[in-house]
Amino acid sequence: MGSESLKVQISVKNFNFFYGKFQALREINLNIPDRQITAIIGPSGCGKSTFIRSFNRMNELIASVSMQGEIILDSENILELDPVSLRKRIGMVFQRPNPFPKSIYENVAFGPRAHGMKNKVQLDEIVEKSLKEAFLWDEVKDELTKSGLSLSGGQQQRLCIARALAIEPEIILMDEPASALDPFATLKIEELMQDLKEKYTIVIVTHNMQQAARASDYTAFFNMGPDRAGYLVEHDITQKIFTNPKEKLTEDYISGRFG
Ligand code: ADP
Ligand code: MG
Repeated sequence: MGSESLKVQISVKNFNFFYGKFQALREINLNIPDRQITAIIGPSGCGKSTFIRSFNRMNELIASVSMQGEIILDSENILELDPVSLRKRIGMVFQRPNPFPKSIYENVAFGPRAHGMKNKVQLDEIVEKSLKEAFLWDEVKDELTKSGLSLSGGQQQRLCIARALAIEPEIILMDEPASALDPFATLKIEELMQDLKEKYTIVIVTHNMQQAARASDYTAFFNMGPDRAGYLVEHDITQKIFTNPKEKLTEDYISGRFG
């Protein structure tokens, strides 16, 4: 796949995923490189959300599921790790901005507090640092006690990113983080991602081809078989996927011929 020279952050091996009896993902093999942006693309229902939610074991919170294979993070299988400590290492941002009905400050302080931090000075520092990293500090620094819900959609999404950063994760998962935002707010999120990848590995699901092409380093294209199980068609450097893919199916998808 061309990323052999990069350090692998997450290695997915022969991964199969089931909701009850329904197989949502089949035999996925994929390496996610460290401190790069990997985009997951593919038609609706092919298992993109299921796939990234497997990384922080979120699927188990919403349904009765079973899995086979391995998702290796630092030589440990995620599927065998304690979900709570795992979610401290892997933060997540969702499709709809979902700030808590609390102040801007408390939204960002939430994670560190939940993990036992009580020191006010330290909390203040983390809140400021996280809001700065999320490109939101300048817009909210004088109104940290205002409700997170009073912000615009784009600001709310950056607040959710700040909230994810506050627990100092290694990996940030983003499931269509800009699909509810206007084009300007979308570009802001993409700019922000370029900054964040200096420190964090980012995996982003997007149905927006331009966004995947603009904002990611690697792209994984998923499709689904006749039984609707999702599988990986092709994974490569983003530029390669969008200019000279190996598979005809990839070319058909990125040029809008299906999906
Ligand atoms: P995508 O994000 O690519 O649109 P999803 O991961 O949401 O795809 O869904 C993949 C498949 O799994 C779909 O067929 C969907 O209907 C099914 N699915 C998703 N969530 C659940 C669930 N909680 N219970 C049962 N089936 C689900
Ligand atoms: Mg989805």
